[in-house]
Amino acid sequence: MHPIYLDNHATTPVDPRVLDAMLPYFGSRFGNAASRSHLQGREAEQAVAEARAVVANELNAQASALLFTSGATESNNLALKGVVQAPWYARSGDHVVSCATEHKSVLDTLKALETKGLRYTILPVDTDGRVSPAHVAAALEPRTLLVSIMHANNEIGTVHPIGAIGRAIKAARPDVLFHVDAAQSFGKLPIDVGAMAIDLLSLSAHKLYGPKGVGALYVRPRSPRVRLACQIHGGGHERGMRSGTLNVPGIVGLAAATRFAHSDPEESTRITALRDRLQDGLCSQLQGVRVNGGADARLAGNLNMCFACVDGAELLLEVPEIALSTGSACTSGSLEPSYVIQALGVAPELAHTAVRFGVGRFTSASDIERCISALVAAVQRIRERSPAWTSRQA
Ligand SMILES: *Cc1c(COP(=O)(O)O)cnc(C)c1O
Repeated sequence: MHPIYLDNHATTPVDPRVLDAMLPYFGSRFGNAASRSHLQGREAEQAVAEARAVVANELNAQASALLFTSGATESNNLALKGVVQAPWYARSGDHVVSCATEHKSVLDTLKALETKGLRYTILPVDTDGRVSPAHVAAALEPRTLLVSIMHANNEIGTVHPIGAIGRAIKAARPDVLFHVDAAQSFGKLPIDVGAMAIDLLSLSAHKLYGPKGVGALYVRPRSPRVRLACQIHGGGHERGMRSGTLNVPGIVGLAAATRFAHSDPEESTRITALRDRLQDGLCSQLQGVRVNGGADARLAGNLNMCFACVDGAELLLEVPEIALSTGSACTSGSLEPSYVIQALGVAPELAHTAVRFGVGRFTSASDIERCISALVAAVQRIRERSPAWTSRQA
């Protein structure tokens, strides 16, 4: 028996319709999309061209502006290193603005670039986990090249006001580029790279019921044309910006996942209702709980909660029948409390108790009821053996 899966921010199951769309490309349609001299190659090239159009359309971008990558980690690396290391920008700047709750693939890339002379400003977030457009604009320096702010957070689900941030940046400094990590929001929230003044945008298939190991980077083609220093050299694929034989089945899967993102117009309402029921169930039956991240502008399936006097990792061990996480999968090997929860102003002891719930397309109402009863019982069991909780109640 597999546990009930409520970790949809770490990854999502592949939608069976996406799998069906991919299968022929593991079989008879095995061609290399760069082989133009025969039918197998042209079939693959055609599939990639169609996929590029589908994914670009979701961003209201033109197809040629999209590069396929191995996922959002690579896209974030290519966007940040590509701009900072591009000879075109070397004379105009050496500074980047980002925020405290970004994914590690942004924060660690900035750290790596710092050893090569980059300076960067990390903006704090408010108690809801948001940065304000005015704060972003105020952080711009004469030598700022780029701002990188995520669309939706992977731990607390907070949605940043990306359009307002983009417009605030361009109003203050039209030459500063704007990168958005949209790994959690792509296909779930509307994105328009033009209206939101986005120059670079990272996305990933496996957060949207697609396969792992494939994603894309949108690179604005004009006004302004964004220049990137290539990070993977080779055959000159993807307009010279990302060499390597394309992952044709993965790219077909990304496009299918994008198409099916809108096949059920009620999906987001249904997921929101399940998430709200989960939150109400836990909050009504347990004392000493706290919901992390603002109530408005939160991803539909996200719930992140602290349970006073209950270590998050211990709680997960207590409910093996539910698949949950204490924070981001990428940092869950560490014993440090989540830097995202701490950025909200939560003290480290309480941050240690944070648990992330991710409701998704395949979650049922009975999954939620079973999760509520299992969690309530587990929290009560752990608190019964906790001296800290007992003295708090006295
Ligand atoms: C998952 C995630 C990433 C990394 O994406 P991969 O495709 O797994 O490399 C980056 N940013 C955010 C916000 C994510 O949720």
